[in-house]
Amino acid sequence: MRCKKCRKKAVINLTRHHTAFCRDCFDGFVLDQVRRAIRSHHMLQRQDRVAVAVSGGKDSLALWDILLRLGWPVVGVHIHLGIGDYSHQSRAMTEQFARQHQGELVVQALEETYGGGVPELAQQSHRPACSACGVMKRYNFNRLALDAGCTVLATGHNLDDEAARLLGNVLRWQQDYLDKQSPVLPATQVGFVKKIKPLIRLTEREMAAYCVLRKIDYIVEECPMSRDAKQLVYKDVLNRLEAASPGTKQNFYMEFLKRNRPAAETKDLQLKPCEHCGQPTTARVCSHCKLTRMLAAAPGGQAESPVS
Ligand code: AMP
Ligand code: ZN
Repeated sequence: MRCKKCRKKAVINLTRHHTAFCRDCFDGFVLDQVRRAIRSHHMLQRQDRVAVAVSGGKDSLALWDILLRLGWPVVGVHIHLGIGDYSHQSRAMTEQFARQHQGELVVQALEETYGGGVPELAQQSHRPACSACGVMKRYNFNRLALDAGCTVLATGHNLDDEAARLLGNVLRWQQDYLDKQSPVLPATQVGFVKKIKPLIRLTEREMAAYCVLRKIDYIVEECPMSRDAKQLVYKDVLNRLEAASPGTKQNFYMEFLKRNRPAAETKDLQLKPCEHCGQPTTARVCSHCKLTRMLAAAPGGQAESPVS
């Protein structure tokens, strides 16, 4: 197999684009796909400073690397979730990348802020682990980004993640979620940074290949507490459709974005400051503060939300 661009030996074939690339041309392709996502969705402006949420997995480490190479001012933000060995390894991978690439990194350990990691917080608040984890991540990503003087928060969601999420939302016709499923969520006046997903034009397989070619070490294991079986089924279904008809996944997601764009990018969510912490919410008290107040009320509870 030869590279369709330069005829050197190809290292990857991309059936959805009817093409194959050598190492250098694949590298150029990846950078170009991220540039295109940023440009076509107006993700970043020249004066922006970007916080990249880095989990230690392939997507977010690759994203950090790509944004650095494209010349954006970037700070890595990592949340140590306190999920045993998995969290230690995730943190180690993130810190290793920061050292090797002279990347600025901020790490927050839930245990230090709240007195416990995800397993403890979930148990004390009587929430499923993934739900407690999601609340903690959303709140603290935003706070870490603001504290680091960033205007934008970037996450490593890729095409597979977004297409699977879209399929789930469509199958249940969750119009509210469909309205909010955008690769860009604008900043609000009451304290949310803008949120972007610059990897939406690239697949999981392509991000893994990018990490291998760039010699980026990442944590391969999935979170041991995550039981999002549905998401895995959706990914599998989409991969089978893709094998039968290359391009289906990208077409499904990109066509949705074209049609849905106005709803997500202009939707007025009627946010107001949380009475407790001041971060934006549609309710009186945000989910983070509801969770942490339950902890404070629990016997032996100690967590109070950090006041911003
Ligand atoms: P996930 O929800 O685990 O698939 O992760 C989606 C994205 O969220 C990743 O690509 C990262 O950008 C970010 N992320 C997930 N976990 C963490 C973490 N512990 N610290 C920082 N960023 C994270
Ligand atoms: Zn709050």
